Amino acid sequence: MATPLPSTSGDAREDHAQQIGAHVGAAVAQAELAVIATVAMLAKRVATGSLLPTVARKQLARTTDTVLTAAVHRALLADRQLPADLAPSFEAAVQSAAVSAQDALAAATASPQQPAASVPRIRVAQLALDALAAQGLVGFVDRAGRRWNLAGYAEMATRTAVSNAWDERQADELTRIGVDLVVVGTHSTEGSCRLCRPWLGRSLSLTGATPGFPTLADAKATGFRHPNCRCSWGTPGMLTAVPSPTDLARSAAAYTAAQRQRTLDRRQRAAHRRMAAAVTPQARTTARRELGLIRLDLRRRQHPFRER
Ligand SMILES: [Zn+2]
Repeated sequence: MATPLPSTSGDAREDHAQQIGAHVGAAVAQAELAVIATVAMLAKRVATGSLLPTVARKQLARTTDTVLTAAVHRALLADRQLPADLAPSFEAAVQSAAVSAQDALAAATASPQQPAASVPRIRVAQLALDALAAQGLVGFVDRAGRRWNLAGYAEMATRTAVSNAWDERQADELTRIGVDLVVVGTHSTEGSCRLCRPWLGRSLSLTGATPGFPTLADAKATGFRHPNCRCSWGTPGMLTAVPSPTDLARSAAAYTAAQRQRTLDRRQRAAHRRMAAAVTPQARTTARRELGLIRLDLRRRQHPFRER
C-alpha cells in the first residue's frame, strides 16, 4: 500500500494525494476530450445534413458509455491504493457526464428558431459547442449548485478521498492503541491555511471519549483539513514542529501562487476542450491561439516550492 505512513508530514500526504489525483484527472480528461470531439463531429454531420439526429444520439450514447466507463475503470484499477468509496462517485459522474453530452448534442443540433435566418447551421452548432467547451462535461453538481467539470471533479474527488483515507487510517491506528487525544500542528511548506489556523496547537479528541475537548470531527466541520489542506495532526511525538505556523503573509502568498497555478491548469484544459469542440475554421484558429498563449504562461511560471 503506497499511502503514506501516519508519521509522514502533511506535505508528503498531500503531494501523494495530489499525484494520484492528477493521474486520475489526466486520464479522465483524455476521455472527456474524446467525448467532446465526438459531440462536435456528430453535430457537424447533422448540421451538414449527412446524419439524422436520432442516429447521432445513439452513436453518442455508445461512445460515451465505452470511453468514459473504460477511463474510470482503468483509473480505479491502475491505482490499487484508491479508496473503494470512490467507485460510486465515479459511476455517478459518468452518468452525469453522459447526460450533459447528450444535452450538448441536442443544443448543437436544435433547429434554428427562425428558419429564414441567414446564419449557417454549422455556425449555430459552433455556438452550442463553445458552451460545451467552456464548461466541459458536467461530472457533479455540488450543494451550492456549482457545476463541476468531469475531469476536475474526478481529480478533486480522488485527491480528497486519498487524503481523508490517511486521516481515517491514522485515527484507527491510534484508537486501537488507546490514544484519544491528539494535537493539531503543521510543518507544511504552505503553512497553516486560514481555516486551519484557529486549530493549530489545540488538542482534539479522536472519538469524543475525553470530556472537555472538541473532536476531530468538530474541527473538520469548521473547515480543518479542507481540500488541498497541508496541515496535519497526531500525537505530540509525531509532530516535529508543533505548533509552528508559517508566517501568515508567507502562507497567504504561497497559497495564492498555488491557486494561480491551478487556474492556469484549468485554462489549459478548457483550451484543449475548445480545440476538440471546434467545427469551424475560426473556432479552430481561436483555440490554437489560446493554447499557444497558455503554453507560454506555463513555461514562465514555476511553482515556488518546486524550486530546489
Ligand atoms: Zn489546512
